[in-house]
Amino acid sequence: MKNDPTPASDAIGRLVQEFARLPGIGPKSAQRITFHLLRSPEESARTLAEALLNLKQKITLCSTCCNVTEADPCTICRNPQRDSSQVCIVEQPQDILALEHTGAYRGQYHVLHGAISPTEGVGVDDIRIRELMARLQDGSVSEVILATNTNLEGEQTAMYLSRVIAPLGIKVTRLARGLPFGTELEYADDMTLTRALEGRSEF
Ligand SMILES: [Zn+2]
Repeated sequence: MKNDPTPASDAIGRLVQEFARLPGIGPKSAQRITFHLLRSPEESARTLAEALLNLKQKITLCSTCCNVTEADPCTICRNPQRDSSQVCIVEQPQDILALEHTGAYRGQYHVLHGAISPTEGVGVDDIRIRELMARLQDGSVSEVILATNTNLEGEQTAMYLSRVIAPLGIKVTRLARGLPFGTELEYADDMTLTRALEGRSEF
């Protein structure tokens, strides 16, 4: 009898399991967060639950750059101060946060939502390349900065993009200097990213 899970421990166990599924959270942290919430006032649990629901209900993709946004077009695409002749191509929305944090870039972005990876079955049509190419047709973009990760998938993607974009007469550059092979942009520090941006070379 004494090993029977009570309804309370079911609720705890279930939440621990859900948290443990998230990236970067191991079973220990999942437990710590769950017990922290258990001790917190009901209001904070409600606020967290609402924030989680809002995330899925309110966030959509910008129809111009494919970044996650609550309003379409997103704040970057809407900002007249941004240089619309430069488009920096990244794999994930988090990469924009990293680049914006440096304050070194004033152009626009395009989010691919992935990278080409034949081994994982991710092809050209599985990421937002079609949207990018459509966007580049009107001749208003003079430089595309390839800021995909410096791992195998990121390099393959950069290579492919350079091959299809160069014929449009658009200058294609690649972040390079200071970013060691295998770097995920999202985890690079400001200094390294700024240097990589400034030192970008024709690709
Ligand atoms: Zn946008």
